[in-house]
Amino acid sequence: MKVYKFGGTSVGSVINMNHVKEIISDATKKVVVLSAMSGTTNALVEISELTRLGDLEKAIIKVNTLNEIYNSRVDDLIKHTDLRAEVSAYVSQQFKELLKSVNETFSVMLHNKIVAKGELLSTFMFSRFLQQEGVNAVLLPALDFMRIDVTNEPDNFYIQQNLNRLMASMPEADIYITQGFICLDAAGKVTNLQRGGSDYTATIIGAAIKAEEVQIWTDIDGFHNNDPRFVNDTNALSHLSYNEAAELAYFGAKILHPQTVMPVRELDIPLRLKNTMQPKAHGTLITNKTHGEGIKAIAAKDGITAIKIKSVRMLLAHGFLKKVFEVFERYETAIDMVTTSEIAVSLTIDSTINLQAIVVDLEQFATVEVDDFMSIICLVGNQIIYHPDTPQLFQVLQDVNVRMIAYGGSNNNISLLVNTSDKLESLQKLQRYVFENQKIKSL
Ligand code: ADP
Ligand code: ASP
Ligand code: MG
Repeated sequence: MKVYKFGGTSVGSVINMNHVKEIISDATKKVVVLSAMSGTTNALVEISELTRLGDLEKAIIKVNTLNEIYNSRVDDLIKHTDLRAEVSAYVSQQFKELLKSVNETFSVMLHNKIVAKGELLSTFMFSRFLQQEGVNAVLLPALDFMRIDVTNEPDNFYIQQNLNRLMASMPEADIYITQGFICLDAAGKVTNLQRGGSDYTATIIGAAIKAEEVQIWTDIDGFHNNDPRFVNDTNALSHLSYNEAAELAYFGAKILHPQTVMPVRELDIPLRLKNTMQPKAHGTLITNKTHGEGIKAIAAKDGITAIKIKSVRMLLAHGFLKKVFEVFERYETAIDMVTTSEIAVSLTIDSTINLQAIVVDLEQFATVEVDDFMSIICLVGNQIIYHPDTPQLFQVLQDVNVRMIAYGGSNNNISLLVNTSDKLESLQKLQRYVFENQKIKSL
């Protein structure tokens, strides 16, 4: 069986929902994971924020505006009288609950309940739309099987047991529709897999049912060699390895949630990225095989903080690095890049929740400098550190202030730290140097 995931744009209009129907109606059994319709989760996050700020009036206006959008979407999508009555009643119930939520005292739990509405709405509407169109589809509530544990990792045993039991109880269905993104926490409360998390839902499900393949359907024809939001003339890559895709997703390639690759990499399940609007395009196939040589793709991640930690002695004494890393370990803060010199170690983090406490602890034995608004640019490719063209890439960045370089930690990755204000220019220059040069050479 295959798992198909459709993102916000794919379920964001009647035309696109019809595309999705065509794609999944190929007479094979499958699980279909849906995101919220595009714009919905952003609107729900804003509603939650207005609730937190106590701006009830604006929160209610936003809820009512969103409700109107859904009412007209139901009118456009569902023509069958009984189904329309059923979907309208469901939508109206969800919005009643939203209005009730904005009147409650704010908490993280309330926020999670508010942002969960998007996927609940899209899947209900789409499952009834499929029924109207004569497709044999059932709705599997994600909250009946999708759970994370106390460390925020998927509770794989629980998911596998419950999902397989639920699917076995509806053997006659061709298509099992479920919500991406939302899940329960270890205490049984509604939570989610973070923004963009529907991709991760799809691969967790893929692993739980030992799927033959997981397909992520979106609004672009696959994984591009650079961020198409910032750079012109990017190209879709036909193949990537799990490690390459995981690295690029972790370092900011928005097409995949950062953790998406992990569940399928472990079981060697192919992951395919496809364009809902151009289903014939090849897309990107992600497997354990590595193709090509040299720099293959570039991604960038914002919101990085750099910390320079100088030893108070003249040299990095034996045990200094251990003491530094213990501080980050104590505050459960992941480090992305590290470089060392004779007297200092520089590193980067992307979560600043415990930054103040970390600095206080480090200052017990070192002097500390903190710089924020930084971005990591990550270059990925097979054995790139050995490729003859790679060292020249530093010439490209001559005019850009590169703050840190991680080269050689892995053979397949080079990371550069730049000020976020220099990110765009760096990405564009790298695009011109790396990929346009590659094209010229191959002529
Ligand atoms: P969905 O709603 O389907 O999950 P997303 O917006 O999350 O879609 O992801 C698709 C978008 O990711 C693309 O439209 C594109 O703008 C952006 N993106 C960023 N980096 C890349 C990349 N390297 N390759 C392809 N798309 C990328
Ligand atoms: N709807 C969620 C979001 O917008 C999850 C997803 O789209 O994958 O973040
Ligand atoms: Mg996404």
